[in-house]
Amino acid sequence: MIITDLFYPKRCPVCLDPLPPGRRLICPPCERRIKRVSGPACYICGRLLSDESEEYCKACRTRRPSFEKCTAYAEYASPAMRRMIAEVKYHGDCQLLDYPCKDFAERMRAVIGTYGAEALIPVPVHRERLLARGYNQAEEIAGRLSAVFGIPVDPSYLSRVKKTTAQKELTDTARMTNLYDAFRLSGKPGKYRCVILVDDIYTTGSTVESCARVLKRAGAERVYALVLFTSRA
Ligand SMILES: [Zn+2]
Ligand SMILES: [Zn+2]
Repeated sequence: MIITDLFYPKRCPVCLDPLPPGRRLICPPCERRIKRVSGPACYICGRLLSDESEEYCKACRTRRPSFEKCTAYAEYASPAMRRMIAEVKYHGDCQLLDYPCKDFAERMRAVIGTYGAEALIPVPVHRERLLARGYNQAEEIAGRLSAVFGIPVDPSYLSRVKKTTAQKELTDTARMTNLYDAFRLSGKPGKYRCVILVDDIYTTGSTVESCARVLKRAGAERVYALVLFTSRA
């Protein structure tokens, strides 16, 4: 038993109940309650599609993103997942990420091996938000994936220079304008040929797209993305 478990018991990411001390990261019945992405998803952005015969969502068909492919772990739509992310983001309980990240990384390990990525790049948060919150949830996710993939995290290669309005309050076009110039390269141009962006949630994809553009301008030939949660296209 790990001694800190006595004082800070780990909680199940789905039901949020304390877990018995030890190695368990989720209660067994809750493992089945996670809606992992299965069934039709856009081949590029990874968002869920309702039509099995489609390969790409409308957005990716209309305009091909700058990144190669984004893969998500689970559907964000379930109340349990929304609650979990809120606990992580606003109450600082990053331990809740342990199970989903480990499960995701183990499922993705073989595919990731074929990418040849040199670094995991977490989507940065603005410095002020980082100071207020104390951590960047995307970096927390990247660190946990890195432990399984054996690919280093580079949390300072990109920075967020603009504090953006809450994205969910904006239309698609406004989101892209809102994010235009929000990210900057803060590392050395040409450092990486292939990288994997990491974020918590993919909704319209404008955040991942904005970061991918900066990385490509910096000389990356291929940019992939991994997100914990995705939405329906
Ligand atoms: Zn549970
Ligand atoms: Zn798509």
